[in-house]
Amino acid sequence: MPDFVRTGRRGWEWPHRWLRPADDNNDHDDDNDRSECYNDDHCAERINNHHTTNDHDHHDHGSADDHDGGGAVVSQDSLFELQRLDTESEVLNHRRVNLEQRTVLEAALVEQAGHQVEIDAVAAARVEVATRQRRHEDEAQIVATKVESDEARLYSGEVQGVKDLEALQHEIGSLKERQEGFEDLALEAMEEAEGLAARISSLEAARADVDARIATLRDEITVAEAEIDAEIERTSLARAAAAAETTPELVAEYEHLRPGFGSATVVRFDGSNCAGCPSSMPAMEVDRMKHEASGSVLNCHECGRIVLR
Ligand SMILES: [Zn+2]
Repeated sequence: MPDFVRTGRRGWEWPHRWLRPADDNNDHDDDNDRSECYNDDHCAERINNHHTTNDHDHHDHGSADDHDGGGAVVSQDSLFELQRLDTESEVLNHRRVNLEQRTVLEAALVEQAGHQVEIDAVAAARVEVATRQRRHEDEAQIVATKVESDEARLYSGEVQGVKDLEALQHEIGSLKERQEGFEDLALEAMEEAEGLAARISSLEAARADVDARIATLRDEITVAEAEIDAEIERTSLARAAAAAETTPELVAEYEHLRPGFGSATVVRFDGSNCAGCPSSMPAMEVDRMKHEASGSVLNCHECGRIVLR
């Protein structure tokens, strides 16, 4: 087989002599040296070889294979299909990561945590209030016991003097006031505790609502993920089929270029422009592509994309 010819910035070129054995009259300049191939087998071979060599400007991807010249047919549609499926796969992965339910779930989890913090705080306050209530009840009880014992003394007849009786009655009166004071405080604490208990019930109901929403969202996410995973699997199988219809070298080159060009790594030559070039192609490059056989897989020397002629 002929050697590849390196031609400046254009990287690799097929030797003119090999393409057109009959046309040995090399009166073209370098840029016109890509004469149209009149032989279908040659064209197929060129397509095959174009991407089995690393001898071009854009990148290296493996060594040049021992080409058997078998003229393997590369389906342009397959390469486009490969690109389309990769884009579809990216969209699916993006959708999987950015499921709407995930955002809602995150908000619900924040809400759930907020409820729990509040429930814990109110529960702690309720314990404090209940302790205070018991303490006041105990204090009231101690004073009540003292009142009972004083009243027993009052009516026992053991205290005789008028002054002593008056003092005892006065003490009983004061003790009863204190007892009522403690009882009021205990009642106040009890009412406060009831308010806190109601608050906790309300918060727990709200949290139960969030818990239920979270469970539903998790179920929905699981279902959505399974659906997307099935789509990804289908896409992956279709991609393997599309890849099998082209060449490993071309797939490798496409994969090498894909990170830079994304869903427009493989583009068409519309007859006067590479569809990937941001502006019009130089006439020289247009001319070069026009002279390539229809069905060729080329590299655009302007933007670096894979161009299907
Ligand atoms: Zn281009």
